[in-house]
Amino acid sequence: MLCLWVSTSQSNSKTMLPLKSTSYTIKAMSDCLFCEIVAGNIPCKKVEETDTLLAFEDINPVAPIHVLVIPKTHIADVLGITDNHSSVIADMYSMVNKIAKDRGLDKMGFRLVVNNGSEAGQTVFHLHFHLLGGRPMAWPPG
Ligand code: 5GP
Ligand code: ZN
Repeated sequence: MLCLWVSTSQSNSKTMLPLKSTSYTIKAMSDCLFCEIVAGNIPCKKVEETDTLLAFEDINPVAPIHVLVIPKTHIADVLGITDNHSSVIADMYSMVNKIAKDRGLDKMGFRLVVNNGSEAGQTVFHLHFHLLGGRPMAWPPG
């Protein structure tokens, strides 16, 4: 059974909204865009979904194929990953594997990007893979 509890905050700080199940705890951040997408409050073009992950088309694609793969639980960035997340992180790679094969990227190659921190270009502080493909990729990245 899932239950949602909301902790209130008097300050302007972020509010955690854990969605608990007996086997897995999904935490949502109240002002996080991707948590809102997970909650269904903001629409997305869904590509894949499991109990713990969501993949959807990037709203501003930078390649012919540009899919975002995110954990449903709120993890801000790579530095927010803990040992408790090992299973969901492994699942993110499995989902990339599936989508890449489904889109034919296993033959032509693809790039998997995680921008960590604003200096690196992170704009949404909910961990996500950018799965990019369908065109040649330059190196080094800009
Ligand atoms: P970042 O810059 O944090 O690495 O990546 C965030 C990505 O989220 C960007 O590629 C951006 O285009 C995408 N994005 C931002 N807002 C939305 C949205 O509302 N819907 C979808 N599908 N993608 C979004
Ligand atoms: Zn979030």
